[in-house]
Amino acid sequence: MDKTVAVIGGGPAGLMAAEVISAGGVKVDVYDSMPSLGRKFLMAGKSGLNITHSESFEQFVSRYGKRREQIEPLLKNFGPDELRQWVHGLGMETFVGTSGRVFPVGMKASPLLRAWLKRLDASGVIFHLRHKWRGFINLAQDGVLAAVLGGKSMLEFETPEGIKHIKADVVVLSLGGGSWSRLGSDGAWVPWLKQAGAEVEALKPSNCGFDVEWSPHFRDRFDGYPIKSAILSFGSFRQQGEFIVTREGVEGSLIYAASAMIRDEIYASGKAIISLDLSPDRSLEWLVEKLSKLRGSRTVASHLEKTVGIKGVKAGLLREFVSKENFTIAERLAYSIKHLQIPLIAPRPLDEAISSAGGVTFESLDEHLMLRTMPGVFCAGEMLDWEAPTGGYLLTACFASGYAAGNSATTWIDSNCK
Ligand SMILES: Cc1cc2nc3c(=O)[nH]c(=O)nc-3n(C[C@H](O)[C@H](O)[C@H](O)COP(=O)(O)OP(=O)(O)OC[C@H]3O[C@@H](n4cnc5c(N)ncnc54)[C@H](O)[C@@H]3O)c2cc1C
Repeated sequence: MDKTVAVIGGGPAGLMAAEVISAGGVKVDVYDSMPSLGRKFLMAGKSGLNITHSESFEQFVSRYGKRREQIEPLLKNFGPDELRQWVHGLGMETFVGTSGRVFPVGMKASPLLRAWLKRLDASGVIFHLRHKWRGFINLAQDGVLAAVLGGKSMLEFETPEGIKHIKADVVVLSLGGGSWSRLGSDGAWVPWLKQAGAEVEALKPSNCGFDVEWSPHFRDRFDGYPIKSAILSFGSFRQQGEFIVTREGVEGSLIYAASAMIRDEIYASGKAIISLDLSPDRSLEWLVEKLSKLRGSRTVASHLEKTVGIKGVKAGLLREFVSKENFTIAERLAYSIKHLQIPLIAPRPLDEAISSAGGVTFESLDEHLMLRTMPGVFCAGEMLDWEAPTGGYLLTACFASGYAAGNSATTWIDSNCK
């Protein structure tokens, strides 16, 4: 078949779409702005490449929150089990870590990506690197559907050889979100998709850290210190874990897990107050009893360490947020250890976040992930308006939506591109 398909964005979503379309016997061209493909995927590999999760399907789909309804059908066709099979098909085994998270053996993305690109290349997929898509041409002047010329989409690319205009029968957009822009996904596509008639929710940081107004002393003393074993409570969220104090505020897995709720609260009311239990294994009564022991000539800090074992950065946190007076009253200090209130004032910038929330809304797409305003143009991956916590849920939904967009594009070519 001499029809052409342009997949723009060579991350997990785009490459999966390309693989599915190519398997249907259609020529696929993959375009990416970067000098190499899958850079964010490789970065995910630096922290172990948590590709998916082994929990029950019901639990798994619940991680997509208010977008569960839209993500669940995608996962039914290509979910955690299919993803693991797919990894095995590339010659890599997977294993389940203690937390139920799934990783490829070796915990690296590079061997997987290498094997995948080799297989795509062998199947005839053509890669065009250093091709930065700049939108659909003529759109601004001529209105929404001017870009669909005689049933073909006219695409504009900035390349080392200059501007190129390329026609394609079918387009899959898989441009990623807006975090870690140095890896390629910079969110520059947002206005172009809006011009194309799509509704796009503003990109927001997801799985992100937050700013805290530390005192200069605390900031200088504890930048980079981990808080091990604390329980974070925020609204209905309550989870034990770890996080890191940074110069600007807080980051790390426990903070990321609550970050969507915290971010939304800050957007709504200007700040969010989290509550920390700094001594999860001890009861309030135990702490009161120990802290009530005679202090004698010991400093308050030394009393805290000797009686309840709290020192270092945890003691520093208490110093930051507990008044001098309350520090000397056993009941109040014990209460603060169990319920330390920390005001978070802003999410860290989108570029620092692990992932993005916001993107092309599902209302702008039909059930085949095709833009309602641009027949023949499909969207997949993190550029869609969903978010999920870390734990393999991000990559799984990117692969699943790439798989769905690839299948939809194949079906669309069969019935519309005679
Ligand atoms: C540090 C870090 C660790 C992570 N770890 C994990 C993890 O362990 N598990 C997990 O599930 N998820 C993880 N993620 C998230 C996961 O990597 C992303 O959700 C996933 O890569 C998104 O896939 P995608 O294909 O939608 O977009 P991307 O991987 O971002 O790919 C988009 C591609 O589009 C290209 N592009 C963008 N704009 C243009 C344009 N205008 N023209 C041409 N090309 C363009 C980019 O160069 C890029 O190659 C991590 C992310 C980060 C930053």
